[in-house]
Amino acid sequence: DTTPRSNFIRDLVEEDVATNRFGRPVTTRFPPEPNGFPHIGHVKSIVLNFGLAREFGGRCNLRFDDTNPFTEDIKYVEAMRRDIAWLGYEPDAVYYASDYFEQLYEFAELLVTKGKAYVDSQTDEEIRANRGTVTTPGTNSPYRDRTPDENLDLLRRMKAGEFPDGAHVLRARIDMAHPNMIMRDPLLLRIRHAHHYRRGDAWCVFPLYDFAHGLSDAIEGITRSLCTLEFKDNRDIYDWLVRECGFTDHPPTQIEFARLELDYTLLSKRKLLRLVNEGLVSGWDDPRMPTISGIRRRGVTPEALRNFAEAVGVARKPARTELATFEHYVRDDLNMRVPRVMCVLKPLKVVLTNWPAGQVDELEAPYYPHDVPLEGSRTVPFSGELWIERDDFMEDPPKKFFRLAPGREVRLRYGYLITCQEVVKDAAGEIVELRCTYDPATRGGDAPDGRRVQGTIHWVSAAHAVDCEVRLYDKLFTVPNPDHGDGSVMESDDDTPADFLRFLNPESLVVVPHAKVEPSVARDPIGTRYQFERTGYFVSDPVDATPERLVFNRTVTLRDSWAK
Ligand code: ATP
Ligand code: MG
Ligand code: MG
Repeated sequence: DTTPRSNFIRDLVEEDVATNRFGRPVTTRFPPEPNGFPHIGHVKSIVLNFGLAREFGGRCNLRFDDTNPFTEDIKYVEAMRRDIAWLGYEPDAVYYASDYFEQLYEFAELLVTKGKAYVDSQTDEEIRANRGTVTTPGTNSPYRDRTPDENLDLLRRMKAGEFPDGAHVLRARIDMAHPNMIMRDPLLLRIRHAHHYRRGDAWCVFPLYDFAHGLSDAIEGITRSLCTLEFKDNRDIYDWLVRECGFTDHPPTQIEFARLELDYTLLSKRKLLRLVNEGLVSGWDDPRMPTISGIRRRGVTPEALRNFAEAVGVARKPARTELATFEHYVRDDLNMRVPRVMCVLKPLKVVLTNWPAGQVDELEAPYYPHDVPLEGSRTVPFSGELWIERDDFMEDPPKKFFRLAPGREVRLRYGYLITCQEVVKDAAGEIVELRCTYDPATRGGDAPDGRRVQGTIHWVSAAHAVDCEVRLYDKLFTVPNPDHGDGSVMESDDDTPADFLRFLNPESLVVVPHAKVEPSVARDPIGTRYQFERTGYFVSDPVDATPERLVFNRTVTLRDSWAK
């Protein structure tokens, strides 16, 4: 299992447990809005919340923060549930903020009765204009001093559907000059005559984030409510609402941590949705996407993702994570678990002129190197016509090139030493075939006379090779931070046009339509992961591969590809 690492939140929770601060077991929640597929940023929050509950014998709820009728959908709920299970976690309970609408409405009436909330009938623009700025106080709404009875009547009629969208809102009555802008009479409920994916058309007073979030936590008896740093200023309203609604006995408290920001990708469902909607990727599960489903389809295991999330850790200050860190954990994990097989991406024909006609050798080839504690092997057919990588031959090689060249000898992995005798070209001068001799005494790769052959290359027997499609995936964007381009301009995050699209990497997918893979893989189930020797880690694509047409996705390159 993934080892939890120490961090400031874990330390706090450990202390909570030691002092029985909350008088109840550790209770966390993971609160996604079902408005997109979960991504690797969510993994950080999942690992943290579920991990704390697991470590301290507590509970972790999955709560859908589904209070916006315009953006949410059941398909996102399903994706989230599936992906959490795939990551290896099981929620102790699954809740929906939309199930709390009635309860939240009761709290609204309570606040109104206490004089702590009022119905405001200003327009959205007036409300915004009267909020003031960081340096100037806001202006009280002309409706701020409505009596509780007046407010209650309006609130009930809002709920009954008597008013159109935007006619009234419910606001907390706090302080229009509060130094924290969020505390300047924040909106609690607004009218939306809209279809909600779970509530249908019947409900029309929708809670805003602040109103729904802390109170949902309080209803569920959450102890520490973990959220990302952008919500630091929301902590005041969180505490205010929880207290004013009567949760005074060990209420939940919010702690903020830095969100995961991963280089060369984007972790915003809204932006990822644009890539999907505009057909810039094949879907939420495109292997280039930072979504859990994309990463899974890319061939990454849940263990690698969890290890990565634990290793990145939980910090109080924003920081970006290098893609290399992620890839390190992916390789580290795959290295210890996947079989090695041979696949030639850019095939060049080799004909062994002295190979006995019709002979096929079945070579025993181990699946794993010595330092991987797994057993297993397969046989690989070897014959007089082979495919090797075009890049493993050079007609005019530099001194340090240890692979095949005219007159030079190279080792075919698990097979024989061969020497290039002749280069065959077509009319255009393109190399189409190498004519080589093999040394029959070198089966297995060692020369009895002890001569040194440095290069070892991979190959497949032409008559036995399986033709397959290989998809070489690379970074989705050309710059580390696609939100800020070259890093010089800070564009506001949420409402700018999609400038980030300028930085899409046109080479994020290169399709090799006719690679040649060894025949053993045809027996493996779809979805099997491999290391293609010297080339990278690959997975047979769980969506597009069929037994008739093998398709492989490159998960990640090898650190030292082409060395040796
Ligand atoms: P997005 O901008 O992608 O929609 P969000 O924060 O709005 O992100 P939610 O579905 O509301 O997404 O988030 C669910 C939980 O996951 C929240 O607790 C949120 O803080 C956390 N979370 C989301 N993105 C990240 C991230 N990049 N790193 C860490 N935690 C994240
Ligand atoms: Mg959110
Ligand atoms: Mg969001």
